Amino acid sequence: MKLLRFFIILLCGTLCGCAAAEESSRPSSAEIFAMDTIMKLTVYGQPPEKGSDAVQNAISEIENLERLLSVTDENSEIYRANHGQDAALSEPARELLEEALKLCMETEGALDVTVYPLVRAWGFTTSEYRVPDDPEIASLLEYVDWSKVSLDGNRLTLPEGIELDLGAVAKGFAGDKLMELFREAGIDSAIVELGGNVQALGAKPDGSPWRVALQGPEGGYAGVLELAGQAAVTSGGYQRYFEENGERYIHIINPSTGRPAETGLASVTIIADSGLQADGLSTALYVMGREKAEAFWRERQDFEFIMLTEDRTAIITEGLEDKFQLYDAWESRPLEVIRPAPAF
Ligand code: AMP
Ligand code: MG
Repeated sequence: MKLLRFFIILLCGTLCGCAAAEESSRPSSAEIFAMDTIMKLTVYGQPPEKGSDAVQNAISEIENLERLLSVTDENSEIYRANHGQDAALSEPARELLEEALKLCMETEGALDVTVYPLVRAWGFTTSEYRVPDDPEIASLLEYVDWSKVSLDGNRLTLPEGIELDLGAVAKGFAGDKLMELFREAGIDSAIVELGGNVQALGAKPDGSPWRVALQGPEGGYAGVLELAGQAAVTSGGYQRYFEENGERYIHIINPSTGRPAETGLASVTIIADSGLQADGLSTALYVMGREKAEAFWRERQDFEFIMLTEDRTAIITEGLEDKFQLYDAWESRPLEVIRPAPAF
């Protein structure tokens, strides 16, 4: 994650003197670059100043979270902890780490916030990509173990060599914080796109759900999803990868092999009330692969998913049957619906 490189704010709501009815459907919006990705914020406030203030506060919140959580910013709390320094976490960082560690446990380490030494060895932090050899991977795997992270109150202790990377959950958490901020400001309709994460507060001002496009792994769109009051977060091999000698190496690492996850999946989208849950689970279910992911969903059923496989099949959970349609190049592809196991 890098510091904000630029931001362009388009506060339409405050700039246009329109009739009240039109104003209520005119959003305040902003597009910024943060957490290594483009973010778009759209807030419907009434009066419109309420929306533009909320957008400004949301930008400050994102900047603040980035300052705390970045693995590359030498002043961030996570950077300092990774380098054996002062490890008293501020509240948002503590809350995020506590929730993330729970997800590491629940996913049995498919999500592992200590995978950073491997992410770095493969070059994903600097974009200087390389394929580490087996002995290097084996030696780094010794430092991948979320259960060795000790969080006591706000005091974080990392054993020598263990380093944190909250990149798999930070944007989801940021989405939750933005929803909280909007709600507290009395907003009831907003949508944010934080890279591959989309999170909505309520529905559109006219009461209809937002229609969110699901990106196709090979470009274009794969589907359209109706979303209201929830987060939809996608982890995809196509989002970040490099190729060497005809092999593709993706940025999602299987913490048990130390290598990019190869499970025949092209992407996993999780739809859940919490952005943090959706973000953590999208990464984890990508690592698990289809069968384990389906079993995991049957156990919990507190989220929905859309999986796109490399052989171009779409798999969705039952709750999305009326909310998701394949689209564009995927329109004629097979769509399988996963249902809870029958009770005997
Ligand atoms: P996401 O895009 O949310 O799936 O997160 C992927 C990012 O999280 C990668 O770019 C890495 O920085 C980091 N990461 C990769 N694999 C894992 C993993 N298995 N558990 C936790 N973080 C990971
Ligand atoms: Mg994620």
